[in-house]
Amino acid sequence: ADPTPTTPKMAVTTRKKIAIMTSGGDSPGMNGVVRACVRMAIHMGCDAYCVYEGYEGLVRGGDLIRKMEWYDVRGWLSEGGTLIGTARCMAFYERPGRLTAAKNLILNGIDALIICGGDGSLTGADRFRQEWPSLLDELVATGELQAEQTHAYRHLNIVGLVGSIDNDLSGTDATIGCYSALSRICYAVDLIEATASSHSRAFVVEVMGRHCGWLALMAGVATGADFIFIPEKPSEANWREEMCNIVHQHRALGKRKTIVIIAEGALDRQGSKITPTMVKDLLADKDGLGLDTRITTLGHVQRGGTAVAYDRMLATLQGVEAVKAVLEATPETKTCFIAITENKIIRKPLMEAVIDTKRVSKAIDQQDFDLAMSLRDHEFAEQYKSFMMTTAVKLDDEIMLPESENRLHQCRRPAGGMNAAVRAGVAYCLSRGHEAKAIHNGFAGFARHHGDKPFGAVRDFDWLEVDGWASKGGSEIGTNRELPGDSGMETIANLIEQYRFDALFLIGGFEAFHAVSQLRKARDQYPSLCIPMTLLPATISNNVPGTEYSLGSDTCLNELVDYCDKIKQSASATRRRVFVIETQGGRSGYVATLGGLGVGASSVYTPEEGLSLEMLAQDVRHLKEIFTHDSGQSRAGRLILINEKTSKVYNAKLIADILRDEAHGRFESREGIPGHMQQGGVPSPMDRCRAVRLAIKCIQHLEKYGSNVHNRVKNDPMSATVIGIKGASVVFTPIKKLEEEETDWPNRRPKAAFWLGMKEVVNILGGRPTYSLPE
Ligand code: ATP
Repeated sequence: ADPTPTTPKMAVTTRKKIAIMTSGGDSPGMNGVVRACVRMAIHMGCDAYCVYEGYEGLVRGGDLIRKMEWYDVRGWLSEGGTLIGTARCMAFYERPGRLTAAKNLILNGIDALIICGGDGSLTGADRFRQEWPSLLDELVATGELQAEQTHAYRHLNIVGLVGSIDNDLSGTDATIGCYSALSRICYAVDLIEATASSHSRAFVVEVMGRHCGWLALMAGVATGADFIFIPEKPSEANWREEMCNIVHQHRALGKRKTIVIIAEGALDRQGSKITPTMVKDLLADKDGLGLDTRITTLGHVQRGGTAVAYDRMLATLQGVEAVKAVLEATPETKTCFIAITENKIIRKPLMEAVIDTKRVSKAIDQQDFDLAMSLRDHEFAEQYKSFMMTTAVKLDDEIMLPESENRLHQCRRPAGGMNAAVRAGVAYCLSRGHEAKAIHNGFAGFARHHGDKPFGAVRDFDWLEVDGWASKGGSEIGTNRELPGDSGMETIANLIEQYRFDALFLIGGFEAFHAVSQLRKARDQYPSLCIPMTLLPATISNNVPGTEYSLGSDTCLNELVDYCDKIKQSASATRRRVFVIETQGGRSGYVATLGGLGVGASSVYTPEEGLSLEMLAQDVRHLKEIFTHDSGQSRAGRLILINEKTSKVYNAKLIADILRDEAHGRFESREGIPGHMQQGGVPSPMDRCRAVRLAIKCIQHLEKYGSNVHNRVKNDPMSATVIGIKGASVVFTPIKKLEEEETDWPNRRPKAAFWLGMKEVVNILGGRPTYSLPE
């Protein structure tokens, strides 16, 4: 029986044969790319091929170029490395090698190639495509192929996907695999920190990155390291002095551990290499800091393991986009690669990106470090500044504002990254000479402690205390879901007046959004509320209007994907098992959908779409059909994800029971409820890094208002905002606009969900038949 699911295939005018290959160093997520490309190609009515062993397979041909079927890529999302192999191929650097490769493609009838690799692989790809017509001419001229054999292949269609752990390609914010590698690094540094702190030691941690400091930089931001060395930005002055000063300051403030992160390619301003040993010797120098110092070289563990949720999402969505790009290309279309800017997946010309990437290496070689930094993406430069602002202690020497300002930090239900955001906000405030105040336990804490214990819930932050919060889960200053209206707006307004707060920085989810809305509306009545306020969304549900990303949502997805992987694997002995997993997310199906994308779910049920008897019946029929045809290819179970608030009637247990009853022994079913586990323990590096960057942007936004601005604030819509990532940009949106135009208040979510289109991708790649939406 043909095991390909019954999803209606898209009509394509000419059936294409699309080959996919992985090349260069392996990276987590490459298998997700192959799965997405193979399935999307089949879905679009094309034939999918895999070229094994990178360019080596293209040159050697034969068995290394294989047609793939739908089930050949089953379960690949959860596998590390690349299952179709990769290699460094010397032959492809030379024209004869590329000539043979061209011949092999034509003999296999392949007219499009999707290549996932680093800048080297993509350079090779572009060269191949440029040479293609001349390669065909030569093959005909030398009699290797007949002219008519080549007629249908005059244009080779190539699309690049960037798979690399280094995140070194210009033009994209992230490469497939970089966040997985960053997770491995942060995990290791978190472990090292415990022992460093116990023994009051220093550690020099060497991470990968010969020409790119992204991993070192982001690891520095995420772990709150004391100092970093990256190739693009050597210390302005004497690195020895600069590092020792900072480490000395931190130690003087009472810090018991020192972490220095160094990229493999670290250089000084003169272009000479800085090695971990040089750094260690300096930290250990008896005449200087005299710290007990160790070196840890992380090496290949950084590449290993399965992909984190973000890389799976990126691999899948970009793989789908690559197939679309192949099918839409005309002979005139420039060779493109698939990039991501903030949260937007886009096609970009490949050669420009490759040229810019090479310019970075050249600029570093020529010690033109400003150029090197400017050629990295925007986020890179910003994160570098964030790192410097949060690590360099400048307690007194840089007071920019005439009067000191107060900040109020206010959190809600804990979400990964909240502490990192508070830490960054406080460090930034202190470095600018502002006073940062903590408010414990939200508005409830603020209001309640007032009576018997005046000002008990409000206190100053201490640098040393928050410095250790970079990687801490939960919320150290506590959260509470009460709204200012619940506590009595008058009390809150009076307290703000008493404390003479100049600005309010809130970190939280939908309640915090509601709180800012209430405070804004009460400004007419209470002039003390005419202070600038901004919300940094932090909630695993990712349901705050004004942003496509909330702190904590990435941590949550990682936990969910991990849980589902384990559950799926537990079924490998029994094979025929369906798991129905209930996810959190309030009335937003974001977590369920993105989780489904990351684990390759068969179906995802969301509150936005609802769940009808008919949908359920169709899914049951589909599962029965799959298991009838399944002659053992399924090494693991299948998953259905249902958001906790999808239906008042159907929950995970009921659906599992229905499936069991309907299966008549063809398969088994079980429910699984990960519950609060999804809130996560240690926040993911992405949540930590974004927390730092966005928190600093928030304070900078508030800072613009200065002090005593009541009248100006009242009529300025930008004085009460939500910061968010929207498409390709980071933006502040006035809360008034969001409240009035973009919020679905009864369902506590944005009116438009940017991720709805991803649901279709889950359905297509999960092989689920298409449905008509319920009325
Ligand atoms: P990573 O980022 O992990 O280093 P990469 O793709 O940059 O990945 P490379 O070893 O540079 O890794 O390239 C992989 C393969 O791509 C090479 O072994 C070679 O076959 C091919 N390749 C690279 N550069 C070129 C080029 N200029 N011309 C032709 N082929 C190339």
